[in-house]
Amino acid sequence: MVAKLPEEEHPIRAFGWAARDESGVLSPFTFSRRATGEKDVCFKVLYCGMCHSDLHMVKNEWGSSTYPLVPGHEIVGVVTEVGSKVQKFKVGDKVGVGCMVGSCHSCHNCTNNLENYCPEMILTYSAKYHDGTTTYGGYSDIMVVDEHFIIRIPDTLPLDATAPLLCAGITVYSPLRYYGLDKPGMHVGVVGLGGLGHMAVKFAKAMGLNVTVISTSPSKKQEAIEHLGADSFLVSRDQDQMKAAMGTMDGIIDTVSAMHLLMPLIGLLKTNGKLVLVGAPEKPLELPAFSLLMGRKMVGGSAIGGMKETQEMIDFAAKHNITADIEVIPMKYVNTAMERILKADVRYRFVIDIGNTISSAH
Ligand SMILES: [Zn+2]
Ligand SMILES: [Zn+2]
Repeated sequence: MVAKLPEEEHPIRAFGWAARDESGVLSPFTFSRRATGEKDVCFKVLYCGMCHSDLHMVKNEWGSSTYPLVPGHEIVGVVTEVGSKVQKFKVGDKVGVGCMVGSCHSCHNCTNNLENYCPEMILTYSAKYHDGTTTYGGYSDIMVVDEHFIIRIPDTLPLDATAPLLCAGITVYSPLRYYGLDKPGMHVGVVGLGGLGHMAVKFAKAMGLNVTVISTSPSKKQEAIEHLGADSFLVSRDQDQMKAAMGTMDGIIDTVSAMHLLMPLIGLLKTNGKLVLVGAPEKPLELPAFSLLMGRKMVGGSAIGGMKETQEMIDFAAKHNITADIEVIPMKYVNTAMERILKADVRYRFVIDIGNTISSAH
């Protein structure tokens, strides 16, 4: 007979908003979280960003959703309890959790601080945890997470505008670093000016890069340059502008998740230039080999970042005062916000004020 662990006997009552089926409509949901284990950090959620993938997941568009589904993987809050073996955090600390809450800790990726590429990586919501329970995300009042997957949020960063860094921020920060597109003076293009793109511009500028935003909509030019600090703006549909910019970029961070042509982007790269995809269109993109051969160019990909790098990203953000541009909303607005995300009607991220509004939504 296997003895029950104490934490199994006293689960924590949690309250959140969940989708119950593929309609994706969210409504109030009461559930249990495991009691704080010896290596767990328990924290009161104060804010949670709304990522575009939340929208796909609540509607089961990637086929991996399990219901009820509590979304949210841009979570920040304040620690309320720590397990006996927790070393890095104490009650009252400001913390965050991003896209993952577990991994195997022994594979090649895990031992190289790349938990994000662990084959057994456990997503923050709609996944199976080590103990067989379902993971629930940050559209909820309380989180219990292994301290290895907890990020420390420096005091100088505002919690609400920092939440989106935990997914959108690391998604663009990691490829800039890994692909070596982080040397002052380098010229980097950012394709798409949404949640990911606006973060890419901010991080790239803080690294001292010369940044060009590439977009289909000329209307975003003023915003990109005057507000976000980009150096220049390219309308991708303008053949003359694109032609004039050919062979000028060391790298491009492509955040677009709709179908689009890679050839014109590859044309913008210098010799040895790198085109990095961080958005995932539903169907395969066309890869024109000849345009890669001529100039020894490469196309790569990147998905979030490991825990060590995520902490490094947050510390870099604190040092350079980088936060997301957000619209803070009450919990009950979440379904309307989902519809607005679908229409790209947000500048640039919705952040749910969980701390002040979730209980009044009971
Ligand atoms: Zn995300
Ligand atoms: Zn692993």
